[in-house]
Amino acid sequence: MLNADQLARVAALRRRLHDCPERSGHEVRTKSEIAAFLRENTSLQVCDMGAWLLARRVEGEDLPWWGLRADMDALPVEGMACDARHGADARHGCGHDGHSAALCGLALALEGRRVGRNLCLIFQGAEETGEGARAVCDGWDDLERLERVYALHNIPGFPRGAALVRRGCFACASCGLSVRVTGRPAHAAYPGDGANPIELLSRLALETPEMIDGILAGDDRLLMRTLIGLNAGGDNFGLSASAGTLNLTLRGHRQADIDALIERIKARAMAGCAAQGMACAFELRDVFPDTTNDDAVVAEALPRLRDAGLRVVELGEPMRWSEDFGWFLRRVPGMYFGIGAGEDAPGLHTAEYEFDDALIAPAVRAFEALL
Ligand SMILES: [Zn+2]
Ligand SMILES: [Zn+2]
Repeated sequence: MLNADQLARVAALRRRLHDCPERSGHEVRTKSEIAAFLRENTSLQVCDMGAWLLARRVEGEDLPWWGLRADMDALPVEGMACDARHGADARHGCGHDGHSAALCGLALALEGRRVGRNLCLIFQGAEETGEGARAVCDGWDDLERLERVYALHNIPGFPRGAALVRRGCFACASCGLSVRVTGRPAHAAYPGDGANPIELLSRLALETPEMIDGILAGDDRLLMRTLIGLNAGGDNFGLSASAGTLNLTLRGHRQADIDALIERIKARAMAGCAAQGMACAFELRDVFPDTTNDDAVVAEALPRLRDAGLRVVELGEPMRWSEDFGWFLRRVPGMYFGIGAGEDAPGLHTAEYEFDDALIAPAVRAFEALL
């Protein structure tokens, strides 16, 4: 547990991070602030890994390795006037400044103590784009040495300081799917001479719910598509449309369901194109796998969090939003959990939102309890 002086130092770090918000993939100053704090205040071995920062806490080479991850990127702010001090075009609207500070707080709380295992503290960028965790998982050989991984997110709308836990899926998988169809133009008087993609794209938009029903086969788990955009043809009334794009966001409790839905959409688009002599191309963007916890790890965590004096709320439903920690959980058993930010706290990503420093203490206590 942190004493008042340590808490004040961690809160001051949180405010320094808040004052240098950096967009996903550009967390340069953020990384150096965190590294400087750890070098000044702890005995951890700090390694700059390029896009991310690793801090190793070694108790013995033969002991098991566990990983704890914090994200550190800020949100882009469209059209925001440049901050004179930092040239900032971003702000910490998701509380990643608080997550990074809390993980530094854990390092501080553990100074001079033994926990019986080695720890890798992972400060990861680019969570908001879904690229950061993937880059760590694909480019870091020591990931395979980890026996456990944990991460948390502050979550408004729940009791302040409560640990929010869920067995199985914690947060949904999601991705953007673009279907681009290219046909042939024709005079509006003779549309049959061309190949017009609008009907096919419209059918795809309307038929996806039926494909979803086929995949779910009556199960009540979530799988949904949101119609993001349908851009086709133009405003020349003498010309039949010859190209168009349908953009969908696919979201669900299981990555496998989304994969199956993508295959069905592709198959139907390709069959429709073949019948009319059109071409289609597909693009996936913002891919987040499901963030699914290990049942045994959650079962072990629940009593530990309660014994540490934390209020524990077991969530009924997974979060609809996505989180890139799912890439870690595909490789290493672990748990992603929430810290309630208060029932009335402004929502994540809203203009009013700022990380609440009162959450640092319960976040550190939760991490300590899990170790
Ligand atoms: Zn966010
Ligand atoms: Zn976030």
